[in-house]
Amino acid sequence: MSAESTIPQAETKEFQAEVKKMLDIVIHSLYTEKEIFLRELISNSADALEKFRHQQLLEQEVFDSHVPLEITIDCDEKNHTITITDTGIGMDRGELEANLGTIAHSGSKTFFSQLSEGDQKNVHLIGQFGVGFYAAFMVADTVRVTSRSFRQDDMGHEWVSDGAGTYTITMCPGIRRGTSITLELKEDAHHFANESTLTRIIKQYSSFVPFPIKVKGEAVNTVQALWTRSKSEIKNEEYTEFYKYVANAFDEPLAHLHFTADAPLAIKALLFVPQENVESMGFGRLEPGVNLYCQRVLIEQHAKTILPEWLRFVKGVIDSEDLPLNISRQALQDSALVMKINKVVTTRFLKFLDELSRSEPEQYGKFWQAFGVFLKEGAISDFGHRAEVAKLLRFESSTTEPGAVTSLKEYVERMAVGQKEIYYINGGSREAIEAGPYVEAFKKRGIEVLYTLEAIDDFALNHVGEFDGKKLVSADRGDIDLPETAKGTEAEQEAAAALPDKEAEELVTWMQGVLGERVKEVKESKRLSGSPAMIVNPDGFLTSSMERVMRASGQNVPDFGKKVLEINTSHPLLKGLNNLRTTDELLAKSVVEQIFDNAMIQAGLMVEPRIMVERTYKILARLVGNDA
Ligand code: ADP
Repeated sequence: MSAESTIPQAETKEFQAEVKKMLDIVIHSLYTEKEIFLRELISNSADALEKFRHQQLLEQEVFDSHVPLEITIDCDEKNHTITITDTGIGMDRGELEANLGTIAHSGSKTFFSQLSEGDQKNVHLIGQFGVGFYAAFMVADTVRVTSRSFRQDDMGHEWVSDGAGTYTITMCPGIRRGTSITLELKEDAHHFANESTLTRIIKQYSSFVPFPIKVKGEAVNTVQALWTRSKSEIKNEEYTEFYKYVANAFDEPLAHLHFTADAPLAIKALLFVPQENVESMGFGRLEPGVNLYCQRVLIEQHAKTILPEWLRFVKGVIDSEDLPLNISRQALQDSALVMKINKVVTTRFLKFLDELSRSEPEQYGKFWQAFGVFLKEGAISDFGHRAEVAKLLRFESSTTEPGAVTSLKEYVERMAVGQKEIYYINGGSREAIEAGPYVEAFKKRGIEVLYTLEAIDDFALNHVGEFDGKKLVSADRGDIDLPETAKGTEAEQEAAAALPDKEAEELVTWMQGVLGERVKEVKESKRLSGSPAMIVNPDGFLTSSMERVMRASGQNVPDFGKKVLEINTSHPLLKGLNNLRTTDELLAKSVVEQIFDNAMIQAGLMVEPRIMVERTYKILARLVGNDA
């Protein structure tokens, strides 16, 4: 008894909740650009054909091996139906249920369950994601899918739904391999059941499908692999159209790279950078976007290992004749050849970005804004490409205009003779950094400081380590050696205003006693001028911002309890404190604790708000003369 015979002939099931939501959006909100339904369905058919072509290379026995690989489209103007048929891989009962009744990709799932009312009408936004098969319900009241898998033991099924919450699956023996989708068109979509309309839409959206698409028996596309043609023959519009096809996009690409290499490996690649970073828009983690081909046969769609994971925003095609055609997915994962292709293409792509930054700085600026975060991820995770990525990093700095960015190379070019290190400091905003204590000493000496405004930045720079032989150093490090400031300057006046050495030493020791275990050390600062105190990191490896991120993500971090508190003994607060400790030690101790907490806050580190607020009230009560 086969497993099939124990399953009822016809079965009606509920769609998964997220599918219902998606269908609701598709049916009620996506009014414009209805014609994309055809692109979505053809694209699924093309995928199914590519998968079949690859299976055929791997499996001995496939069902209906002789039928040509193609997509046929028929329409019936009288009965208002369109049928899209492919001879692809097909789906068995379980696959029909899983593929057409649920949304598998977790990012899409979250996206559709969280989509706001306003966003629901944003076709562009939803298009980024692709409603795929469900686009059929934009134009159809009823969608009928008959499918038979390539596996010998399948028997064929029909899946029917009106998109209202359920679907029914019935056995359907005697059909050919592949999938056939019949749309019973809604009244306002009747006009689509017309040969010339269908032909126009196919030419517009699906001209790059690598299989013949026939409308009423006539092929309407020219099957071509754009990436195998010579660059000089290809028009910009063709690149754009191909991008739309391969990336399932609606807009133009931000940039593209088309290259051919013969040695050491035969590679043809056509890579695109999209306009927008959908990952940062809350769409969940991107799937890789590059398809791997061998001699124009798709080996793996959205290939996982052909580019490093941090380049997952790149879309396009990589084709290498050197790959064996019958390589399995599994073998791809750990193929040394794939790793080599990966290396060659990644290096070439990074070089392309570097060139772009010089030839079209404005485009590169847009790229950096949208995708810089991926390069930072690369700097952290990809040792092999770290140096190339470092050239592409951009940051604001004390020298740039607000909002403008600079490269490490430009920073080095601006460095004064004798400066050996590149400095950076993290903060929530440019304003916060400039108002904080860390940049004071640098500003005074005319030394540029890069502003790292994102949490990931310090990790990236920390991993990069050095650039052009210059160490990258966070300005919140305790052991920075800055040159003396010129004589007769403000600094000298400040030094003169500072507490005498002996008193300063006593104050430091006393403060150290008050703070006890909370600090590694209190010391007199050589750097501060406007601010009374600051926290610096003695260990030289982690910056305060890195510590904050690690703590927030619950990572096991080494003992960070011990910070160094640097104090500015020429600041009136510290001078006053030095007097107060002899007249009212209790209050003076509270002031020390408050100075410490303030410095921690300026370093972006956590303090216990309850204790701090209570303490502040006590100090304030003293101030207003009513501390009973
Ligand atoms: P996506 O194509 O983005 O995965 P869809 O909702 O369009 O999402 O399709 C869901 C799944 O249904 C596909 O991944 C594929 O496995 C399957 N599918 C859709 N159309 C076909 C088809 N014509 N032939 C075979 N499988 C298909």
